[in-house]
Amino acid sequence: ATPTALLVGCGRGAQLGILVNGPEALERSHRVDTVVLDKTGTVTTATMSLLAVHPAGGVSEAEVLRLAGAVEHASEHPIGRAIATAAAERAGALAPLADFRAHPGLGAEGTVDGRMVLVGRPALLEQRDISCPEELRRAVAAAEQAGRTAVAVAWDGQARAVLAVADTVRPTSAQAVRELRALGLRPVLLTGDSPAVARAVAAEVGIDEVIAGVLPEDKVRAVEDLRAEGHVVAMVGDGVNDAAALAAADLGLAMGSGTDAAIHASDLTLVRADLRAAVDAIRLARRTFATIR
Ligand code: ADP
Ligand code: MG
Repeated sequence: ATPTALLVGCGRGAQLGILVNGPEALERSHRVDTVVLDKTGTVTTATMSLLAVHPAGGVSEAEVLRLAGAVEHASEHPIGRAIATAAAERAGALAPLADFRAHPGLGAEGTVDGRMVLVGRPALLEQRDISCPEELRRAVAAAEQAGRTAVAVAWDGQARAVLAVADTVRPTSAQAVRELRALGLRPVLLTGDSPAVARAVAAEVGIDEVIAGVLPEDKVRAVEDLRAEGHVVAMVGDGVNDAAALAAADLGLAMGSGTDAAIHASDLTLVRADLRAAVDAIRLARRTFATIR
């Protein structure tokens, strides 16, 4: 590769809103054949909304929101922001939080009013040996059937509520997927969310390969497996949970709206919050290399 061609590539990239973290990334990327897409914040917008609260065992909706909102206020995950925003709107001032811990791909926890509050995917409660009463299990199933993300809330070792959170597909994501296919690229949706929610989003944008319900380390393995099969893999993501997979891909693309962890792990940053910028980036990489050779 000649330095001039790479610089031209980077200059055009800047015009398109693509920041090149290292020009050598373009060198690896012109043979990409598979594009792995994170769901939350990548195919969907980074803004989620809280649709319903299902409390159990006599606790009030306001109490659930106050405690879960206080924990999620410290979270940078779109689910966390949706819960914290709804809590601030409906339950007023948030309670002070101590001992916050984020569990990428799983949830978050912290101490609020002396209670140990856990918010996250239902499997996180199982990991802590917190059993979910039948009432809440039904709420999880109903939310997922409706294409919503079910988030469980527990405190002091007991499951207390299930929250239903909704994703919104970015208006340009379906077109971006069509453009990827037109370039001969294979789109794969990779998400920590449930298979039901993942399938609903995949159907909406026209993706038929879905890997769902995975933990961040399984995201890395999914990328590595595709590479071991001989594919050249681009990965597009935004979350802390995506960082390792972005680094493992031949070409990592971070949504500019995403977390610092994702941006640092990536080769390219997409300034526009639009999946079509990923298509532009891959096209740019191909064209830059056509110029060089
Ligand atoms: P994605 O791969 O779609 O970006 P993540 O890997 O970030 O999703 O999260 C996977 C699942 O973990 C979410 O669907 C949610 O159930 C749970 N989760 C992650 N972070 C949080 C959080 N801050 N609060 C509640 N639940 C969370
Ligand atoms: Mg994400």
